[in-house]
Amino acid sequence: MPRTLPNTPLRPATLLVRGGQNRSSFDEMSEALHLTSGFMYESAGQAEETFLGQIQHFQYSRFGNPTIEALQNKLAALEGAEACRVMASGMAAVHSAMLSHLKTGDRVVASRALFGSCHWIVSTLLPRYGIETVFVDGTDLDQWRDAFRKPAALVLLETPSNPMLELVDLPAVAELAHAAGAIVVVDNVFATPLLQKPLTLGADVVVYSATKHFDGQGRVLGGAVLGSQKWVDEVLQPFIRNTGPSISPFNAWVILKGLETLHLRLPAMCANAAKLADFLAGRPEVSRTLYPFLDSHPQQALAKKQMSAGGSLVTFDVEGGKEAAFRVLDALRLIDISNNLGDARSMVTHPATTTHMKVGPEERARLGITDGTVRFSVGLEDAQDLIDDLSQALDGLRSTGGGKADLSRAAAPDR
Ligand SMILES: *Cc1c(COP(=O)(O)O)cnc(C)c1O
Repeated sequence: MPRTLPNTPLRPATLLVRGGQNRSSFDEMSEALHLTSGFMYESAGQAEETFLGQIQHFQYSRFGNPTIEALQNKLAALEGAEACRVMASGMAAVHSAMLSHLKTGDRVVASRALFGSCHWIVSTLLPRYGIETVFVDGTDLDQWRDAFRKPAALVLLETPSNPMLELVDLPAVAELAHAAGAIVVVDNVFATPLLQKPLTLGADVVVYSATKHFDGQGRVLGGAVLGSQKWVDEVLQPFIRNTGPSISPFNAWVILKGLETLHLRLPAMCANAAKLADFLAGRPEVSRTLYPFLDSHPQQALAKKQMSAGGSLVTFDVEGGKEAAFRVLDALRLIDISNNLGDARSMVTHPATTTHMKVGPEERARLGITDGTVRFSVGLEDAQDLIDDLSQALDGLRSTGGGKADLSRAAAPDR
């Protein structure tokens, strides 16, 4: 007799380790990797019954696979959502959540502070299909109120946002959005389900890039969409079944293994990030430090209401613009320059010339991204080693002739 998990509500750590397992008849301990594109039927009749939906049987990995299903069940249990679909990347998830729901003539309201590709979908892709899109400053409830004077079909927002770590008041925006007829889709990548549960704060759909903290070790891409059973079955599933943004079972399996330690990794990363934010806020070369739980964050109270910790990202401005920011990045010896985030390894990126280059200078100014802005994804190294690395890089700004830092980077054998 296969064992089933206890009926009592299980806590996040237990769900991350144990949730969602689909054991096969071999009783394997770890999740099996079902690296198969299709499934066989015992008879022509069983195939017919499967296609009629009369029996549950896997058909084809584009729309169902036991390893992928295990990941979906684990994520749904963790989020407290009725249903989940996992896809090939975070952008496949965002794109599918939006396009499955929308049609020509609809109106979309989005917060301006979005991940670059999400911004492109709203500003460039949706209008091509005759969907009207409106951007608002996500922190300003009056702008949301104005935008909802006309009916809307969908809201997309990110909180905290990338890279400026702005917060959106989820219950307030959800109430306005629902009154205007819209579903609320929240990109919860920066908070993860351990720090913030958008569905309990009024959202209808939550999307993730599993590439970030879920894998957390920089190996594979993945994405997830979570919502009600009805919406997932009737709206999302037909879209993904027929358009094919499917994840490889191998990538799903890697993410399953990554999730087993999320409850250990994330608090350690958040603790490091809080220390690094304090350190940066005290440095004269840094003109602004943004971290949701920092006393100086303009929305600290809202952050503490919606989130259980400040997250693993810190954004700061180096005094002296692009040149100074580049000098600091190039002088780092431990912290990598990379546009990924949520990884065990700490990494920094310069949004104005990378992730947010394509949105243009005017939009960057509106978002508050300056030429000195640096986004810092704090990892799992010892906080003091990270502080030491940043210290020496910031100290270097006081000496002239930045060539020395470049040489040390080029000479480092592990690069
Ligand atoms: C990375 C990211 C995405 C996109 O995810 P991919 O897995 O890279 O496709 C979307 N939203 C946010 C906030 C992200 O950080």
